[in-house]
Amino acid sequence: MTALRDLDVVVVCEINVDIVVSGLEGPPVFGTERVVDDVVLAAGGSGLLTASGLADLGLRVGVCGLVGDDPFGRIMLDHCDRHGIDRRGVVVDPAERTGASVMLSTARDRAIFTHTGAMAHFIYEQINFDVVRRARHLHLSSHFLQAGIRRAVPNLLAQAHAHGLRTSADTGHDPDERWEVADLLPGLDIFLPNEVEAQALTGTATPEAALARLALQVPLVVVKCGAAGAMAARGSEQVRLPGFAVRAVDTTGAGDAFDAGFLAAWLGGADLESAVRQGNACGALTAAQMGGTGALSPAAVQAMLVGA
Ligand code: ADP
Repeated sequence: MTALRDLDVVVVCEINVDIVVSGLEGPPVFGTERVVDDVVLAAGGSGLLTASGLADLGLRVGVCGLVGDDPFGRIMLDHCDRHGIDRRGVVVDPAERTGASVMLSTARDRAIFTHTGAMAHFIYEQINFDVVRRARHLHLSSHFLQAGIRRAVPNLLAQAHAHGLRTSADTGHDPDERWEVADLLPGLDIFLPNEVEAQALTGTATPEAALARLALQVPLVVVKCGAAGAMAARGSEQVRLPGFAVRAVDTTGAGDAFDAGFLAAWLGGADLESAVRQGNACGALTAAQMGGTGALSPAAVQAMLVGA
């Protein structure tokens, strides 16, 4: 029997809110109160931001994850609905607390405080495979924050392949700085780290060396290099493209937006160079605005690509 594929991508991901405090002039001082420029409640979770970007670019997207039956969880379910994301794979458990990050942002740097909550408790047995089977592609995110899923990653990737899906992942940073991915890389078709992560994962000193090392383990690797753009390797094929010139105001979610742009192009049949270029365009669009979602649309990406 042929599987019904009414989703392009399913993202198994952490689903949490970001509370962004902006306009601090320096680190917080305990025992004082300060007036700040703004406090914004935004959708968070690397994979959820990629899912949102993919949906905004017109792909049919489903997410699997875990939230509590609480205000933060309801905000995230509402976010999925507004972006047209299929959320039948989101488990709502009253015993859980939806994860949340508080970000204190100055003009130069950020400090992030994360309560992982439900995002660390989501486990393989809670993944809705009726949703996974409907997709052509599985994307994984925040490998090191999703402790429950991490244990079963080889099984999850094997199941995805058995159901005919291709697979990709973006690990994000490892708060424990252990950078172990022996359980992840062998099951991936596409790997999308940034340069800091790529170097830490391989113990190399340059993004070029990291890319070469990772390309021995994963068929298609893209290393994101901030304003400098991105480089990719697929077998002997190599691509390196500079980033688009924008005035960056907040790079939150730029990497997740890159993943969305790259995957949307690649799954749509684009060549490697075009896919990296679209990734760069989506990363730049997101870096040029506050917050990690809302910058992407087919028209905005097209305008960036043609330099309008
Ligand atoms: P992450 O957000 O994972 O740390 P990067 O900082 O490398 O990843 O950003 C991801 C992508 O977003 C880059 O590869 C680039 O395409 C784009 N990007 C990020 N920062 C800028 C910037 N200042 N100007 C233009 N493009 C940017």
